[in-house]
Amino acid sequence: MQNDNRPIRIALIGAGTVGSKVASLLIDQAQDLKARSGAALELVGVGVKDTAKSRPGIPAQLITNNISELISKDIDILVEVMGGIEPARTHILDAMSRGISVVTANKELLAKDGATLYAAAEKNNVDLYFEASVAGAIPLLRPLRESLVGDKVKKVLGIVNGTTNYILTKMDETGASFEDALKEAQKLGYAESDPTADVGGFDAAAKAAILAQLAFHTRVTIDDVFVEGITKVSAHDVKAAKEMGYVIKLLAIAERLNDDSVVVRVHPAMIPRSHPLASVREAFNAVFVEAQAAGSLMFYGQGAGGAPTASAVLGDVVAVARNKVSGKRGPGESIYADLEIKPIGQAETSYYISLQVADKPGVLAQISQKIADHNVSIETVRQDGLVNDAQLVIKTHKALEKDLAKTLDELKNLDSVKEISDYMRVEGEN
Ligand code: NAP
Repeated sequence: MQNDNRPIRIALIGAGTVGSKVASLLIDQAQDLKARSGAALELVGVGVKDTAKSRPGIPAQLITNNISELISKDIDILVEVMGGIEPARTHILDAMSRGISVVTANKELLAKDGATLYAAAEKNNVDLYFEASVAGAIPLLRPLRESLVGDKVKKVLGIVNGTTNYILTKMDETGASFEDALKEAQKLGYAESDPTADVGGFDAAAKAAILAQLAFHTRVTIDDVFVEGITKVSAHDVKAAKEMGYVIKLLAIAERLNDDSVVVRVHPAMIPRSHPLASVREAFNAVFVEAQAAGSLMFYGQGAGGAPTASAVLGDVVAVARNKVSGKRGPGESIYADLEIKPIGQAETSYYISLQVADKPGVLAQISQKIADHNVSIETVRQDGLVNDAQLVIKTHKALEKDLAKTLDELKNLDSVKEISDYMRVEGEN
């Protein structure tokens, strides 16, 4: 328990987009934060790589590049917003071994090696909070970790990457190609010069792993997540989706199957324009949670950016400070359910398939039979005649992903099928 009047001493490592805002909020809102925490929050040092950089709003005497020394001081909370696996992990573990609680925004580290961090927190009886690691400012992890802890989460379905949502929004609203929409996103600062982590789906996959672990009380790492990015989404896909009343979004989906196993996946999917996630535009994030007793809940807001992310970090800092003041610890790792994690083949989804086929009698019957052979059923089919060929646009009912994959493989080999022009998963329908 914190002694009366002793401030809670905070070391911040990282003073970039997020860290610089965390530092200025800690300094500017000191009085309010003291009143809300029950003790003054004192920023005792800010660890960075380059001490020569100008850091407006952060007193120069706080800046250091000697992070080990900073952590060895008499610190109560380490705020890690430097990112990456190393040296962030070493600093966090060093801090925990000294009895220091940790607040981090590091989704990459949590999704890759959260188990090591949780174990160290447990062993050293310290807190590990990480609200800012998923969906920036949106309070989402605490609701999953605390408010919904009495419920049974069935599915988490979300837009958790602002860069890709910006790109897909531009493609939908202006008809732009992926490449042009990406260039615009880079020009406006919504995408990095190397956009791989975002457009490849890896950033969303790290967040999906963190969400799935909390939702299902089961250890989930990024290696458990099926990942497909948006680089192959074409202007034609977007137009076809629009014509059918859908919009394409990059979705992170963690769901509990009927046998209580779990599938976690990130991929582009068509969702109906009437679905609440369809109206999430540009760089905004939103996550839809379906729980047995609570029903459907949606969390919406800014998923990135210095100030919004710093808001979530500060919320964690105050929560940890309150724990210190009252001599308590927040929730630790909850993996008691230990549900089986299955590959994407076991997920149930429906598909949109666009095929170029020979325009002759019997072709539709042959294709329908091939689809039925794999336990997939057709919901709608539309045929547009070309000169010698026809374009078939098929929407299937929900089926096992592995059956749909086999169906596509076999359709490709039919003589009457000239080309599978497009296919995409469809989500958000009951
Ligand atoms: P950033 O702008 O690149 O800042 C990184 C900071 O860490 C910089 O101050 C850098 O020092 C420092 N740093 C990096 N490597 C270091 C090292 N080896 N030793 C000492 N200092 C080092 O990153 P950011 O965007 O603020 O992101 C920080 C974390 O928040 C990441 O884990 C990220 O995933 C997470 N996050 C970010 C956002 C967002 O909108 N940016 C949203 C949610 C979560 P210098 O200043 O000297 O270069």
